[in-house]
Amino acid sequence: MSTATAKRRALVWVRRDLRIADNHALYHASRWADDGVVAVFVVSPEEWADHDDAGIKVDFWLRNLKEMQTGLAKLNIPLVVVTAKKRTEIVSTLLKVAKDAACDGLFFNNEYEVNESRRDDTVERHFSKHGHEVQRFDDHVLMKPGEVRTGQGGMFTVFTPFKKALYKILEQHPVEVLGSPKRQLEIAVKGTPVPEHVAGFESHVKNAAELWPAGEKWAHKRLSTFIEKRVAAYKEERDTPSVDATSMLSPHLAAGVVSPRQCVAAALEWNKGKLDAGNAGAAHWISEVVWREFYQHIIVGFPRVVMGRAFKPATEALKWSYDTEHFERWKAGKTGVPIVDAAMRQLLETGWMHNRLRMVSAMYLTKDLFIDWRWGEKHFMKHLIDGDLASNNGGWQWSASTGTDAAPYFRIFNPVSQSEKCDPKGEFIRRYVPELRDVEGDAIHDPSQLPGLQRSRLEYPEVMVDHSKARDRVMEAFRALG
Ligand code: FAD
Repeated sequence: MSTATAKRRALVWVRRDLRIADNHALYHASRWADDGVVAVFVVSPEEWADHDDAGIKVDFWLRNLKEMQTGLAKLNIPLVVVTAKKRTEIVSTLLKVAKDAACDGLFFNNEYEVNESRRDDTVERHFSKHGHEVQRFDDHVLMKPGEVRTGQGGMFTVFTPFKKALYKILEQHPVEVLGSPKRQLEIAVKGTPVPEHVAGFESHVKNAAELWPAGEKWAHKRLSTFIEKRVAAYKEERDTPSVDATSMLSPHLAAGVVSPRQCVAAALEWNKGKLDAGNAGAAHWISEVVWREFYQHIIVGFPRVVMGRAFKPATEALKWSYDTEHFERWKAGKTGVPIVDAAMRQLLETGWMHNRLRMVSAMYLTKDLFIDWRWGEKHFMKHLIDGDLASNNGGWQWSASTGTDAAPYFRIFNPVSQSEKCDPKGEFIRRYVPELRDVEGDAIHDPSQLPGLQRSRLEYPEVMVDHSKARDRVMEAFRALG
C-alpha cells in the first residue's frame, strides 16, 4: 500500500457494468485516487454455471470487456483479468490483485441477487479488515432497490403503482448521467489480455459477433438510431416480431454496456423531458425500461424468487407436469404450434427472443403444457444473450401466473390468436420455420386447418395438446388453490 506518501490508488471491480461512461464505481474511483486506478475482472465459472449463464452471454461479456480494456488504457487504467475457479476463491483472488497492484481502496457497483449480494458483503468485510476503504454504488438501476415504497412503507408488488411512485421521485430528482472517469497518471501496473473463451461457456450461436456487436460506441449508435427513427412508432409496432421495432438493447443493458440512466435520458431528451406524456412511443419505451427496474426491486424485496420459489406462495401447491417429451419438443421448437416453434428457434439461432414471443412461448409451456415455470426459466437462461435473473424470473412468473401480474384472473393466451395478432401475415413464422414456408393464408397459424393430404405432406409435427382442454385443466388447477 502506498500509505507512506498518503497517496491513494483505487481498485475497481468490474462486473455487469462493462462501460466507461456513467459508471459510478469507475467515476468515483477516478476522483478519489491520486495514485492511479486499476480495474479487475474476475472470471468466475462456478458462479456463472450456478446461474446457468449462457455461453453466448459470456462470449458477449468477453467481447465487451476487450472493448472496455482498450478504452480504459486510453485513461491509463490497466484492466487485469483473473480467474477464481470456485466462488470461495473470489475474496482471496481480489485481495491478491489489490496487494500486487498496491491498491488502497476497492470500488464496485452492487449486484442484487442473493448469492451475489452476500458475496459482495463478504468481500467488503475482508477488504475493510485489511485496512482498505470500500465504496459501493447503486448503478445498475435508476433508483436504489428499496427506496421506492408504498404509502405504508412496503415494497410494491404491482408494476403500475411502482412506476407512478418512481416517476414522482424522478420528477423531483431527475435522472443524472455521469461523464467519463478522470484520466489517470501512468502507473507501473500491466493489464492482462482478455481471454477469447472460457471453457464450458461456448456460444451456441456461431455468428454471435456479427449479430451482437460489442462496445459502448455501438450500443450508443443503436440507442440514438432507435430513438431517432423508431421510438415514435414503438407503441404500435413493439408487438410485431417481424418488424425491427424494439431497441434490441437488452443484451447491452444486462451486461451494463449502456446504463438505464443513459437510455431514459436519451428518450427524455427526445420527448422534451416528458416521462409519461408527450410522444406515446417514447413514454411507452421508458415504461418498458421501468419494467426492468421493477424486477430488480422485486428480487431485493422478495428474495425468495431468486431461490426458485413462487412470488405468490399459494401457487407453490400447483402440481406441475414434468413431461420430458413435451419439454424437449418445446425446447427444440417442434410443438406443432407455429408461432411457439418460430419463437423457440429464434432463441436457438440468435440467443435472443422478441418480448411478445417470450410471453407466448412461456405461457404455452406453463399453461398449455402445464410444465413447471422453473424448467422454462432455466432453459431461457442457458440460451439468452440478455439473460438476467430478475427480468427472466419476473417474466416467467408473470407468464405462469405465479408472479406479479395484477390481473384478477389467470391470463391464458390462445397461441393461435396471439399468432394472428402479432404475425398476421406469418412472415416471422416463415423466417424461422422453413417447413411452413409455402403454407398460405390463415393455416400458417394453425396448419390443422389444411386439407388432410396437404397437412400430411408437411414435415411438421402435429400439436401435442388441445388448447381448450389444456385451458380447462389449468383453470381447474388454479381454482383449486382457493
Ligand atoms: P425494448 O422493447 O426496446 O425495451 C427496452 C428495454 O427495457 C429492454 O432492453 C429491457 O432491458 C427492458 N424491458 C423491456 N421489456 C421488459 C420486460 N417485460 N421485463 C423486463 N425488462 C424489460 N429481459 C431481459 O433483459 N433478460 C431476460 O432474461 C429476460 N427474460 C424474459 C423472460 C420472459 C418469459 C419474458 C416474458 C420476458 C423476459 N425479458 C427479459 C423481458 C423482455 O422480453 C426483454 O427485455 C426484451 O424482449 C428485450 O428486447 P428489447 O431490448 O428490444 O426491448
